[in-house]
Amino acid sequence: MPTKTAKRNSPFEIAREALGHVGKFQTPPTPSVYEVWYRYVEGVDDIIANLSHAVEDVNAVSVDMLEQLHKQYCANIEDTNTDLSDNLASEMTSLQSILESQMNAGKQLGSELDEACVTLQEAPATAQSIAECAQKMLTSSNTMQDQIRNLQTQLQASQSKVEALQTELNESRAAVMTDPLTNLGNRRHFDLHIRQSLLLAKTESRCSFLLLVDLDHFKHINDTFGHDCGDKVIMYVASQLTHLCPDSSISRLGGDEFAIILRSDDYAEATDTAAEIRQYFASTPLKLSGSGEDLGKIELSIGGARLRKNDDGQSWFVRADKLLYQAKNAGRNSVMLEHSR
Ligand code: GH3
Ligand code: MG
Repeated sequence: MPTKTAKRNSPFEIAREALGHVGKFQTPPTPSVYEVWYRYVEGVDDIIANLSHAVEDVNAVSVDMLEQLHKQYCANIEDTNTDLSDNLASEMTSLQSILESQMNAGKQLGSELDEACVTLQEAPATAQSIAECAQKMLTSSNTMQDQIRNLQTQLQASQSKVEALQTELNESRAAVMTDPLTNLGNRRHFDLHIRQSLLLAKTESRCSFLLLVDLDHFKHINDTFGHDCGDKVIMYVASQLTHLCPDSSISRLGGDEFAIILRSDDYAEATDTAAEIRQYFASTPLKLSGSGEDLGKIELSIGGARLRKNDDGQSWFVRADKLLYQAKNAGRNSVMLEHSR
């Protein structure tokens, strides 16, 4: 669930201010737009983190952006997924009962044929009894075939439904974990991967290294070249990080901050990776596509911590964050990684 930093007490106060935002940013007061503004004023951290840059510029807030935030942080994702899972479960149950009916139909035909054979064995067979028996068998077999055809149709329909629901559920789960601007994982994705790393450390003694990456003076890019350009820079950094760390779990935590979970906890490897990332951006001058305007080089700072035995997600993150802070204080464009075990 999104965390909240309480800002206002009275719902009336919140509602009034939220409506003020609807007017100020000229966004239509649809329920989802209104809810995002309501949650923003109320103090939902994720929404504040995603909107704080945009609210500085009235033209930077779009309905699309608010709809995305609504999907990600307001819509009751758990409910959606629970509904889909429930539908899937009930479809699986009906699939099972179709399969059982098919088996029963087979069994019934078997016993009807047995019965017919017994009738023939009990009395001396006459032409008439043989004909009657054959007729019975034919009727049973036709009924069975009809039943099977009918069940087959039901089975196919049910299987397609199950597949569609499964796809919908997967897509819904993936959307909830995806940052819409960069297509990287979002905060939820990060939380999930942190939990998985903790589990791997416990069950397979495989530890990981967490790198937190934050762009230096990114506000300057927004201020000088505009938010759209800032967005493009964020997208560019995201795609390059994916190329530089193809085997790692990468998430955008919000704004200009990214998290990379390296599969290994080897200090030398983590140092090489972090140095390569810093160096790559610091030595690649950027030009704005279209206008060709010079953006200069992107500098960034990296803090990193190795997962320790007694860590939980929070303690691990806090150590990496402190080191990121130190890298910033050391003059930025630098890397600070935890060496000790
Ligand atoms: P520092 O070197 O200390 O990191 O300074 P900074 O200017 O990079 O500032 P900081 O990392 O604290 O803040 C990041 C800024 O990024 C805040 C906000 O204005 C901007 N921002 C946050 N999200 C977005 C976004 O989605 N798009 C754009 N264009 N800007 C964003
Ligand atoms: Mg920054």
